[in-house]
Amino acid sequence: MNAWQQRERARNILSKEVGYVSKTHGGRLRVALAFPNTYFVGMSNLGFQTVYRLFNAQEDIVCERVFLPPKTELAALLESRAPLVTIESQTPVNEFDVFAFSVSFEWDYTNVVTLLRLARLEPRASERTHRDPVVVIGGAVTFVNPEPLAPFADVIAAGEGEALVPSLLDAFKTASDREDLLRRVATERGFYVPAFYDVRHASDGSIEAFVPRPGTGAPPVVKKAALKTTDAVDPPATTIFTPDTELGSRFLVEVVRGCANLCRFCWAGYNYLPVRAFPKDRILQLAENARQYSNRAGLVSIALCDHPDIEEILTKLVDMGFSISPASLRLDDLTPAILELLRRSGERTITIAPETGSDRLRRVINKTVTNDEILAAADMIFASGFENLKLYFMIGLPTETDDDLVAIRDLTRHLREAMLRHQRGRGQLGRIVGSVNPLVPKPGTAYQWLPMEDDRSIELKIRRMRTLMSGVDNVYFNIKSERHSFYQALLSLGDRRVAAAIEAAERNGGNWRAAVAETRVDADFFVFRDRSRDRVLPWDIIDGGLKDHFFRSEFDKGLREEWTLPAKRQKENERLLPILR
Ligand code: SF4
Repeated sequence: MNAWQQRERARNILSKEVGYVSKTHGGRLRVALAFPNTYFVGMSNLGFQTVYRLFNAQEDIVCERVFLPPKTELAALLESRAPLVTIESQTPVNEFDVFAFSVSFEWDYTNVVTLLRLARLEPRASERTHRDPVVVIGGAVTFVNPEPLAPFADVIAAGEGEALVPSLLDAFKTASDREDLLRRVATERGFYVPAFYDVRHASDGSIEAFVPRPGTGAPPVVKKAALKTTDAVDPPATTIFTPDTELGSRFLVEVVRGCANLCRFCWAGYNYLPVRAFPKDRILQLAENARQYSNRAGLVSIALCDHPDIEEILTKLVDMGFSISPASLRLDDLTPAILELLRRSGERTITIAPETGSDRLRRVINKTVTNDEILAAADMIFASGFENLKLYFMIGLPTETDDDLVAIRDLTRHLREAMLRHQRGRGQLGRIVGSVNPLVPKPGTAYQWLPMEDDRSIELKIRRMRTLMSGVDNVYFNIKSERHSFYQALLSLGDRRVAAAIEAAERNGGNWRAAVAETRVDADFFVFRDRSRDRVLPWDIIDGGLKDHFFRSEFDKGLREEWTLPAKRQKENERLLPILR
């Protein structure tokens, strides 16, 4: 694929879009913003669209987008000498001041390396020169554990874009050269410059310390940057509409950030505290503006119903003529009024996450609902006319026994009975679709020290689940392979030594087994080891706000099968995690 073909493709994309920003480059900080996956996937990512808006909202910044080319074009582009160009002005990425990445998923790490190579840049920061763009990696995964990506980044932006973009611009405006710039950002909240730290390892391979290099001004730990309140902030919402995305021309909007429940495995729950609702009036105003381009609204929030005005928001969106797709709904917040509004908007499926089948195990993980409440919610869901139910479960949880797996089957059967009760006589029955994933212990949660359950045991549980769930009419279970979760765990829990495996997997087309063998990365060490005695964990370089003793006490309470707090606890969240700017 030559430069001319790339430009043609970019122009074709722009011809179908509404809302992209076109600015002249002269006198501005030029930012090429990458989503490390295809256009089709990236344009449905609200975080990516938001960072694009935040950069371009600054008069002094011009931000243009770049994506991974489709598979059919990728090999040809890598072989050609044509450098990767941006969508808006079709300028080579390596001519920009900043090459920024918004990374949401571990599986996209190899694509970060591919995009750097396509831009004709060395993937490793240590091999790039002062003439190259400054590579800034941000996005949800980086403020949970940035270390596997650290060798590729000049700067890791840890936290929420709204708090990070202005500081980055200020540093660029005042810096005299690249070194000065890195020193300046390193002292700002939320910016981590990996090259400013030596990582000292103990003899057992664990990390002993991150040691800031003298003269760099780098702090001992980098505090995550977050908004204290969202009162005066525009909610993240789709600003560029195109039909060529995973979710079509759907208007996506974040209604409320965070979740008050604090499930012990959930990195999103812990890391987006405190719960902050976006202003209702702005949500509705943005929706009104978007209505001419879209008749479908996707409400992106991990706990949608934590918004105090959710019923009013749903009512007005339905009145505007939107059909509404909520993300997964928290069971304890479902009300007949909310269900009625979603049903009126045309939704036929509700997604809920019981996580496990027994009340006992739900107490272990601090999912504060019971089977009785789940069944009552299902009654309400099917009584409201919903046809299908989507369920999320996990296996490999601490203290789990075979009884808990059987309980998943029993709960699903009871849910099916509820569905049949309401749908009998209507001619057509709906479906219950279950998704079962092995637990990947996540950094920044009460399970951050926990080893992942070993392959053999997970494999047996997967087989057992398949047997338990087979042959139940109208129930379909999708059970993820343990190997898939194992490599995801490696990328979640690893440190910068894992970068070598990322590079190898990028070269060999995603064969992780071969990549790990070739680079001799000890994947079992990162995934299956009890980390509770480690002095420093790879992600400790970022201070997310919650303290180790809190996570440890949460873990211990889980073993005692105790819930932590009642479900509605926004005030308690704020006390746990005061975010200062
Ligand atoms: S209810 Fe859902 S979003 Fe909230 S903490 Fe639990 S798993 Fe996370």
